Amino acid sequence: MTDDTWGRVQQDLYQAVGKHNYVTWIEPLEFDAAEDGVVRFHVPTNFIGNWVSRNFGDQIQQHLLRAGVAVERIEFHVPAVGTRKPAGSLAAAANGAPAHVAAEPVAAPAEPRARPVDLPGAPLDKRFTFNKFVVGKPNQLAHAAARRVAEGSSVSFNPLFLYGGVGLGKTHLMHAIAWQLQTDRPDLRVVYLSAEQFMYRFVQALRENGMIQFKELFRSVDVLMVDDVQFIAGKDSTQEEFFHTFNALVDQAKQIVISADRAPGEIKKLEERIASRLQSGLVVDLHPTDYELRLGILQHKVEQYRESYPGLAIQDGVLEFLAHRISTNVRVLEGAMTKLFAFGSLVGREITLDLTQDCLADVLRASDRKVTVEEIQRKVSEHYNMRMSDMIGPKRHRTIARPRQMAMYLSKQLTARSLPEIGRRFGGRDHTTVMHAVRRIEELKAVDNQIAEDLELLRRMLEA
Ligand code: ADP
Ligand code: MG
Repeated sequence: MTDDTWGRVQQDLYQAVGKHNYVTWIEPLEFDAAEDGVVRFHVPTNFIGNWVSRNFGDQIQQHLLRAGVAVERIEFHVPAVGTRKPAGSLAAAANGAPAHVAAEPVAAPAEPRARPVDLPGAPLDKRFTFNKFVVGKPNQLAHAAARRVAEGSSVSFNPLFLYGGVGLGKTHLMHAIAWQLQTDRPDLRVVYLSAEQFMYRFVQALRENGMIQFKELFRSVDVLMVDDVQFIAGKDSTQEEFFHTFNALVDQAKQIVISADRAPGEIKKLEERIASRLQSGLVVDLHPTDYELRLGILQHKVEQYRESYPGLAIQDGVLEFLAHRISTNVRVLEGAMTKLFAFGSLVGREITLDLTQDCLADVLRASDRKVTVEEIQRKVSEHYNMRMSDMIGPKRHRTIARPRQMAMYLSKQLTARSLPEIGRRFGGRDHTTVMHAVRRIEELKAVDNQIAEDLELLRRMLEA
């Protein structure tokens, strides 16, 4: 194996493990030698070596095999002093770390051990305040709970555990809590950070013999917010430390707010006792946005944008179109809006539906790609225990015709297909049949709870 091969494998690993993992764990590895099926790497510390071996060892080996390296085992060694390549990988790891961490001098090995006790939190995003958070049915509970915590008086639930898919506002709500507390309760020490940053801090403390300070620091906060805790699942020593920090704070009746991409019990490789501890407070989920909430967010954005560009003109129907067609992820929705506004102000004319479709062609295509008519047909058939062939077949019995109409309705809602295109995919039916189905389901949805629930469930499964 050569450095080149390792370079290519690194690129694959980047794709496989994601940027943050890559920067923290893979980038610091230096290919040393390959002999008799053993591939050796240099690592800055034994800790990193053990960690990588435990958490990424198999993946690295698989990618090496795929790249044609005959590897039976991989090993990690801390090189003897003076043998490290000049581009110090420890420094590289520090430089690649999240900006606010890298900016601190503590990451440089030459710095003295003792450092001032600073708050370990991450910077807050100015835009993430309560008054910029649009409340709708899917997020109202989470919002109410966050508001309650933000009042700063002692709260009956601890921890507050917020969970939901990406881009649904978890981070926004946590920052909003922090902002409000900073203003109203400057006496409280409020710390917000991601679980990844928590781990980074922890690893750094271990590396630099700073564990005592680390513990003191985290045990002295009044409100601790840790974002994306799913990240520490499977990372045993970080989990352990997190658990101790958590318990110490709860014992002192300090407030904790946690977020994750799923419910505590569903986080794989999260220790049982930690999961159950996390469930002991209030667990609230942020549901995927619905059409009304998306429209609300879009309108809110337009108002905000108009504050700086009063001339912004948007044709009727554009926001509705976007709310229908762009995914439940608010981040994607915002990205689309920003692009559209920029484009609109650049060409200096009204933002029409045509302009929107041109400007956002790729975004729209990307959110379409998610769901196909065939997938919808398959999911709906499964749900109602009917044959896929009946979706496109001629049977008209209610038990078959109704699910078929629902599938047509969902196809209209979730894909960019036109009515005739949908009709064609349902066994060559006419577009008026599809139109009728869409109307019928819309009516039924309003009066029949079961249908409304089924649709919601199906939509969620399809968009997941
Ligand atoms: P998560 O942490 O759940 O992945 P974020 O909090 O980062 O999501 O939200 C993604 C983006 O969407 C942010 O820019 C945030 O401001 C915005 N956003 C999410 N929910 C709302 C909402 N209800 N109102 C306004 N903006 C929102
Ligand atoms: Mg987030």
